[in-house]
Amino acid sequence: MQTGGEAVAYRGKQLAQLAGFEHEKATDERLDEWLSACEEDDELMGDGYSPEVVNVRETRRSFDKERKVPASLVKAYSEAQAMSKQAWSEARAEDDFGKFEPWLKKMVELCGERAKCWGWEDNGEAWDALGDEHEQGMTARMVSGVFEGLREKLVGFVGEIMEAMKNGRGPSNRFHEAEVPVKRQRGFVERVARGIGFDFDRGRLDESGHPFCLPLHRDDVRMTTRYAENMVNDALGSVLHEAGHGMYNQGVPGGEHVGTPYGDAMRLSVHESQSRMIENQVGRSEGFWRWCYPVLQEECGESVAGLSFEDVYEGANRVDASLIRVEADEATYNLHIMIRFELERAMMNGDLSPGELPGAWREKYKEYLGVEVPNDRVGCMQDIHWAQGALGYFPTYTLGNLLCAQFYEAAERELGGLNEQFANGEFGGLVAWLRDNIHRHGMAYRAEELCARVTGEGVEGGADALMRHLEGKLRPIYGV
Ligand code: ZN
Repeated sequence: MQTGGEAVAYRGKQLAQLAGFEHEKATDERLDEWLSACEEDDELMGDGYSPEVVNVRETRRSFDKERKVPASLVKAYSEAQAMSKQAWSEARAEDDFGKFEPWLKKMVELCGERAKCWGWEDNGEAWDALGDEHEQGMTARMVSGVFEGLREKLVGFVGEIMEAMKNGRGPSNRFHEAEVPVKRQRGFVERVARGIGFDFDRGRLDESGHPFCLPLHRDDVRMTTRYAENMVNDALGSVLHEAGHGMYNQGVPGGEHVGTPYGDAMRLSVHESQSRMIENQVGRSEGFWRWCYPVLQEECGESVAGLSFEDVYEGANRVDASLIRVEADEATYNLHIMIRFELERAMMNGDLSPGELPGAWREKYKEYLGVEVPNDRVGCMQDIHWAQGALGYFPTYTLGNLLCAQFYEAAERELGGLNEQFANGEFGGLVAWLRDNIHRHGMAYRAEELCARVTGEGVEGGADALMRHLEGKLRPIYGV
């Protein structure tokens, strides 16, 4: 049962009040003085990536951003978020886009106002100001530059796979159809999470409708997954993904750095690169399944006894052009993101009115994924992001996938033989490499700096790295 409309309106006002208080604290003029005093201290600011410099830099960045938005807009935005999420949730349940449309329009307008407060470069556009909130320095031009080349390659490659499937090639559906009692799934996924290196002395695994990972502290990292009898692969994939986030959170600098930017993890693409690496580069590899197949047999017993190694390994790599982003496989996932980026950019630029969204959504799904969208519930209303004003967020998922492909290639170059290590249940080599190259630096390096340091190349190399990863694995499975 949904909370009633009146209650939501009241809750919205409470949240707006809190957002106002928070804004007041975060924009206290004394902060500006203290930051300036630090910035003028040459000795303190000497080393470009010391904890002090990183803390001053990041605090300055959030202070300046916060100060540019007037309190009235902070409150209006926060209140609208609560109302809009509620409208979205009802509209989605009833498959009635008309109910959500005025709120979408409102959120796009408010995002436009926020963007104006923050500003953007002369040759840029409003989307850039929103993108920068989620990924420092991310612009629409940069994102579309990366996406356009990748899109063509992905559409072609996914098309080849779909064609092969029509001709009866590719994995069996048996792993996806296996019915495994939830109790046994719990034991299975927990053993896997432990095996790959999630530290249960400093974290835990629970259940929720939408899986997430919440770091209260580096020593108290809480992640969740979800279970359904016929979705053991989904429960596992979610645990691997969240454990990737979780191990990053467990590996950031501790001690005196806790609670400071230096002791925090990078958002958002770098964080996503860590979850995707455990979920995809590790958890869908042949080596991983050499180790995990007997674990699955032991923990899940009879219900999976009839599955062969190929059923499971290839089944975990099944590609299917589908409607729903969160259920998408590795190969089609980024096409879902590209569609959202193109549409939100068009809405921000005024080239697409919110009312035209359902039609535009259908066209793009047909064009990129070859699927017909039967209704808006599984179409443009499937994600909560726009309902809560998170425009400029989606591309960070794909940028995370690209960084991940680059990081993994670098790890393989340095460590060698990762697939064989996984087959022996040895994940410590990779995790130690991630700790050393990524986790322990906290927020010291931005995504592109980190990429250059770790891989020796720029982020523009990500698209090719991702295609090498996908083609290297999926071509043999599909015989294409
Ligand atoms: Zn994630």
